[in-house]
Amino acid sequence: MECNKNHHQMAHVHHSGYCNGKLFKDAAFDALKAAHCRITRPRLAVIECLAQATVPLSPKNIYEYVLQNNDDKIDQVSVYRILETFIQLNLIHQVFPSGDYLPCTTSCEKNSNHIILNCIHCGKVTEIDIDGNDILKIYEYIKNKIYFLPAKNRIQIDGMCHSCQ
Ligand SMILES: [Zn+2]
Ligand SMILES: [Zn+2]
Repeated sequence: MECNKNHHQMAHVHHSGYCNGKLFKDAAFDALKAAHCRITRPRLAVIECLAQATVPLSPKNIYEYVLQNNDDKIDQVSVYRILETFIQLNLIHQVFPSGDYLPCTTSCEKNSNHIILNCIHCGKVTEIDIDGNDILKIYEYIKNKIYFLPAKNRIQIDGMCHSCQ
C-alpha cells in the first residue's frame, strides 16, 4: 500500500455503536487521513459501496457496484489495492472461507477486538462487541507465555445464528 507505514499505530478508528453507512464513511475518512492516504475518487467509490453493504461483498461485487454507480472508470486491480489498504487500516474484515469483505462495525474506542460471527447455515455475518477483559487475557497469555506478539485482534467464530438453530 502507498500510505505511511506507521498508519496502524495512529489510525485507530473511532466510531461508536452500530456503524451505519454514514458512520462507516466518517470512520474511513478519519482512518485514511490519519494514515496520510488521499481520499481519491476510486477510494471514495469503494467506501460508498461498503457503507451500504449489509452482507460481506466480494471484490467482484464491489467492482460491479462501483461501475454501476459512478461515472469514473475503475479496474479490478484498483479495487483489490483499495481493499488491501482498508484491511491494513482495520476498516474492513475478510470473512472466511469466502474471503469476502465486511465493513467493521465494532466500537473501537471501547474495544479494539473484532469478533465476527459467521453462520455456516444461512451465511449471515455479524460483528459484535464484548467486554474486552476476557479476550484481552488471552492476548496477554499469548504475549507473556508463548512469546508471540499479537498484532491484529480479529476472531471469526463459525456456527449457527439464532434463527438457524
Ligand atoms: Zn471490526
Ligand atoms: Zn443463520
